[in-house]
Amino acid sequence: MELSYKTDNEIATFELGQKLGQALVAGDFVALSGDLGAGKTAFAKGIAKGLEVEEPVTSPTFTIVQQYEGRLSLFHFDTYRLEECWDLEDIGYEDYFFGEGVCLVEWPEKVWPLLPGDFLHVTIEKCLAESPDCRLLRLVAKGDRYVKLLEELN
Ligand code: ADP
Ligand code: MG
Repeated sequence: MELSYKTDNEIATFELGQKLGQALVAGDFVALSGDLGAGKTAFAKGIAKGLEVEEPVTSPTFTIVQQYEGRLSLFHFDTYRLEECWDLEDIGYEDYFFGEGVCLVEWPEKVWPLLPGDFLHVTIEKCLAESPDCRLLRLVAKGDRYVKLLEELN
């Protein structure tokens, strides 16, 4: 199952993330793809808001994973700087990926072999043909849990 949305400003992308964040439960996993400037951080901030995280969310520039506390723990990964996916093993990624918090992984392509079997894959693309601020967000469910999640969002 797949849902897609178009947004025409950063706030709309944030609000879509917030709506998703409100629907997330313990153990959920979201992979977030998109080029630099697509809007991943805006969407991630919305997810955090939806999880009732009070602390400001930044791009995890110098750390691979940043932890936030809301109604659930949020583990925000940015694997952009990893040389190899196996480098995630050094930080004990399994505790996060298969734990009771919510994982949000930016640049999931970098660590594809390590991703769980089921997850929600969000892809953000610029739709420049329409307007400079247009973004296409595609939410693709991998596995039954995420089909349910998308049905709930819809
Ligand atoms: P990323 O984390 O993917 O590199 P950011 O969220 O940091 O992207 O930045 C997205 C940039 O695009 C911001 O400058 C934002 O204002 C701008 N922007 C314009 N339109 C949108 C939109 N519809 N959704 C999200 N960001 C948008
Ligand atoms: Mg970013």
